[in-house]
Amino acid sequence: MSAPSRILHYIGGELVEPISGRYLDNIEPATGAVYSQVPDGDAQDVERAVDAAREAFPAWSRTPADKRSQALLRLADRVEANLEALARAESVDTGKPIRLARSLDIPRAISNLRFFATAVLHFRSESHATDHLAINYTLRRPRGVAGLISPWNLPLYLLTWKVAPALATGNTVVAKPSELTPMTAYLLSELCREAGMPPGVLNIVHGRGVAAGAPIVRHPAIGTLSFTGGTSTGAEIARGAAPLFKKVALELGGKNPNILFADADMDEAVRTALRAAFTNQGQLCLSGSRIFVEEKASAAFVERFVTETRRLKVGDPLEEQTDQGALVSRAHYDKVMGYIDLAREEGGRILCGGGPPQAPVSARCRGGSYIEPTVITGLPAESRVNREEIFGPVVTIVPFKDEDQVVAWANGTEYGLSASLWTRNLPRAHRLAERLAAGTVWINCWLVRDLRVPFGGMKNSGVGREGGEEALRFFTEPKNVCIRVPLDPSES
Ligand code: NAD
Repeated sequence: MSAPSRILHYIGGELVEPISGRYLDNIEPATGAVYSQVPDGDAQDVERAVDAAREAFPAWSRTPADKRSQALLRLADRVEANLEALARAESVDTGKPIRLARSLDIPRAISNLRFFATAVLHFRSESHATDHLAINYTLRRPRGVAGLISPWNLPLYLLTWKVAPALATGNTVVAKPSELTPMTAYLLSELCREAGMPPGVLNIVHGRGVAAGAPIVRHPAIGTLSFTGGTSTGAEIARGAAPLFKKVALELGGKNPNILFADADMDEAVRTALRAAFTNQGQLCLSGSRIFVEEKASAAFVERFVTETRRLKVGDPLEEQTDQGALVSRAHYDKVMGYIDLAREEGGRILCGGGPPQAPVSARCRGGSYIEPTVITGLPAESRVNREEIFGPVVTIVPFKDEDQVVAWANGTEYGLSASLWTRNLPRAHRLAERLAAGTVWINCWLVRDLRVPFGGMKNSGVGREGGEEALRFFTEPKNVCIRVPLDPSES
């Protein structure tokens, strides 16, 4: 399996050209060079995909769960058999180190498919006995055609996180991956064909958000929308979907606090804080981009953290020893550099990084968008840099006095996706877990994921939850059936 120079839509089981005939350039972030073409899809292509998904829905929704499960398991096997090729494709398309794509992105895509393929076999519904009058039972049926829109930072990982529960529960799908990183979604469509996925069950339309995403949001035949991406795009999608009364799940941005008390296991805390700040060049919704350290431990922590940050190797994403690859695009590079400039204006001290490496990371990578991992101190918790999502290799460190202060600062942004907390004091850990406004709180860890747990954000980090039963419930419509059961035989 190899990356083609021209990507196609996947509609009705076929790989098809965009109706308009128009394509966009797909750029390799590591080099800045165009390396393939992606369909500049639009409403006509979405219409065609919706037709295919509607046509496939009656048969797929009636297919027994174990048959749907087997189809997803076959697809997972095909993904696993092509792990290396997919990891390479993901690295080239996103700029992330191939080591990360191989250890995180593609294995997680396989787990997503297998998890929901088997979870659906254990999905149960409810029954309620109403005094001596009646029995209620709840039917959960697939909702129809689901529209799934995903971002560029974890392309195959987040696409399969939505596709797997939608298909497992009997919906059919029109998916749109990010136009910046379409390659592994395209390769997945080739694998669907190999795995014998029935035509029209999964359709993948490529293109820009406004041209190909918005028609999915507005399409009256798509009643379910699951979106992962930026908060302002989420607001736009909510505006488009609300008048049509769609069922919508929004997984949006984050500005996640990583809180370290002086009694924490500092070796582990430093190691993990480094990963939390810089994995995927800091382009994770769950990145720990604001580190709060208890005052008495702050100076020692800063020294160790900066030393470790300087050791991270910025390099060609395809080289095995690279820790930090390229940012996804020149526009995103400019955004992140804008925040580093803002940090300077707001009075921050840049302790390391602060811009591109002095020399190109390699001859091949001269045109790529690289920023050295950047550590900033001296900014108030209320500064813009400490409140707004940067989504790059930039972390701030802020010392704090006590629990009340750090909770107020940690909760003082519009976001509420995740928080990490490092302490050996058990009562304090539980107390703060309760007080932190975040959909996930990690205690003495970060990014430990169990696919069964509810995942999502509070406040402007999103609406709804994914994962486990939450996803199976989201993609099904509950219908209550109430049967009168008279106890007295004379009534029957
Ligand atoms: P984005 O919002 O720019 O794009 C996401 C997707 O939406 C893309 O496929 C894009 O083409 C599409 N889109 C854009 N405008 C649209 C519109 N008007 N209608 C329909 N679709 C539209 O986000 P991004 O830059 O690709 O991703 C980065 C963001 O995603 C960050 O804010 C990050 O925090 C967030 N994110 C959140 C999670 C989570 O689980 N909460 C996970 C990963 C990323």
